[in-house]
Parts: sequence; C-alpha cells; structure tokens
Amino acid sequence: MSVAPGKSCGPCTMCCKVLVIEELDKDAGVLCGNCALGGGCKIYNTRPQICRDYLCDWIMDRSLPPQLRPDRTGTILQEDPESEEYQAVVDPKTPMAWRHPLVFKLLVAKAKEGKVVVAKSGAKTWRIFESGQVSPWT
Ligand code: SF4
Ligand code: SF4
Repeated sequence: MSVAPGKSCGPCTMCCKVLVIEELDKDAGVLCGNCALGGGCKIYNTRPQICRDYLCDWIMDRSLPPQLRPDRTGTILQEDPESEEYQAVVDPKTPMAWRHPLVFKLLVAKAKEGKVVVAKSGAKTWRIFESGQVSPWT
C-alpha cells in the first residue's frame, strides 16, 4: 500500500510519538527526539527503515476523511500484519481517545466487515464488536 492521492501527514507526528519503536529505543507515548517542531523528521535521510516503511491506515485509505487524521482524533488507525487486527492506537496519556465519535463509528464499521477490532493504549487493550459492545481484551 502507499499514500493515497491527496493525503499527506501535514503537521501530524502521531506515529513518531504514540508507537513503540524498538530501533530507536522509544517507548509508547514518548515523542521521538528526532521529531522537528511543527512536524517532520530531523534525520529524514538517515531515519530507520521502520520509519521509512510505516504508513498508518488514514494516510493509505482514500475513503477516510480529513477529520480522522490521527493528530485530530488522538488515534492512529492501522492494520497489524502479524495479528491481522484492525487497531486504534492512542497515546497512554489520553487512553480513551479512541472513543472519539468518528473513530468509534469507524471501528464498529470495521467490526461489521468481520475484522478483529481492538483499541490499544500502552499495555491496555479493548475489543470492539459489531454491536458496539466493548470488552477488555488480552
Ligand atoms: S500517524 Fe499517519 S498521518 Fe500521522 S505522521 Fe504517521 S503516517 Fe503520517
Ligand atoms: S526517526 Fe524521524 S520518522 Fe522516525 S520516529 Fe523519529 S522523528 Fe519519526
């Protein structure tokens, strides 16, 4: 997959903050020290491969509207290739950001498509079902 036409990260730096990046010894919820003020990467030409490869679902999916850009909702949307989960990943400092109405509506829709949908905040995980029911998930 690639960046959808018309999409760009703009000032969003959510993946440089929210995600664990082992290559940089970076924990969840800690802004990478290479992140430039206002967006962008100070070591863009030499950034690790994992940073080169990463694209969130918002930036790849043309159908996801501007309001769902991760910095606007506090929630990164991504498909996990290993678990095949559809994930809403949030900053542990705002652990319920995935309850944003637009995000939650999308998560329920994904569950209705038959995906295993989870919200993740640090070590906490919830499963979202097609009925809109939410349960803690391990
Ligand atoms: S979370 Fe998505 S939109 Fe935001 S910086 Fe990362 S790839 Fe770009
Ligand atoms: S190295 Fe650059 S692209 Fe990678 S997390 Fe840090 S700021 Fe983001």
